Amino acid sequence: MSAVDRLAYVRHSIARAEREYGRPAGSVQLVAVSKTYDAPAILPVLEEGQRVFGENKVQEAKGKWPALRTRFADVELHLIGPLQSNKTAEAVALFDVIETVDREKIAREIAKEIARQSLAPRLYVQVNTGEEEQKAGISPREAVAFVARCRAEFGLAVEGLMCIPPAEDAPGPHFALLEKLAREAGVAKLSMGMSGDYETAVGFGATSVRVGSAIFGARNYA
Ligand SMILES: *Cc1c(COP(=O)(O)O)cnc(C)c1O
Repeated sequence: MSAVDRLAYVRHSIARAEREYGRPAGSVQLVAVSKTYDAPAILPVLEEGQRVFGENKVQEAKGKWPALRTRFADVELHLIGPLQSNKTAEAVALFDVIETVDREKIAREIAKEIARQSLAPRLYVQVNTGEEEQKAGISPREAVAFVARCRAEFGLAVEGLMCIPPAEDAPGPHFALLEKLAREAGVAKLSMGMSGDYETAVGFGATSVRVGSAIFGARNYA
């Protein structure tokens, strides 16, 4: 199967999950995760009309997307990987959505860059729902207060929450937790679900799913 065939299958599966779980048709956005794939691999997916893409590294995204954007101006790029504070200026310049706001220092840097560059990427707070040591994201206990602080202290309009459940857990409880925190924090968007569990995520209220290998094929590295 080609990436174009797999894209069609993923789109079909999202539409089916929307019907199955009583979600409005078209209410779940597909973020095609193109990390580790080069421009020639991404091109057929762009030509098929996909416009929303996720990348996890600022440098890698900077190396391939500016050129692709000259041909596809309406691309919407999401940063889904951890953001280092020394990359904030580049991230604000390049990405339409930053999904990985997870600590005060980054929130402060983003606010500074938004003012300096007169750009306003949409923002999500990443929540470490499994409280995993090695994983980025704010702890679930602090998430609601952190969203409030992003707004009050840094003037950031956080519009959603994002999570990556532990690989060894059933994802459902993590998705349910993220949905509950989003309600408490007063944010409308939920970025959750990857290749292995995006249909489940639709059932738990995902407004976007981040799907990589199910479209582009298995990666050689993460
Ligand atoms: C790589 C990645 C994905 C996509 O993973 P697949 O299992 O390939 O669909 C989604 N979200 C984040 C944060 C990622 O780093």
